[in-house]
Amino acid sequence: MKKAVTWGLAISYIILFIAMGVMGIKIFDGNYDIVAEGCVALIFLLISCVCNIYRAFSNRCPHCGKIRLSNGKYCSHCGKEI
Ligand SMILES: [Zn+2]
Repeated sequence: MKKAVTWGLAISYIILFIAMGVMGIKIFDGNYDIVAEGCVALIFLLISCVCNIYRAFSNRCPHCGKIRLSNGKYCSHCGKEI
């Protein structure tokens, strides 16, 4: 599940980047018909936000159950090795 979220995050960032690029090219060309690209960018921005929140909350210590803020080898709350 965690791997799927990481992949989802990576893919949604890539699609977001492409949509932003297409929007930029269209605006540069004087074409302001960017509603479709805007919607795609917004949807994938939301998906990436959800993935980030999920990742933050799933990153818990197996010993004390508190959310780990760093990816270190030891838990910052109980000091046990993860
Ligand atoms: Zn802990």
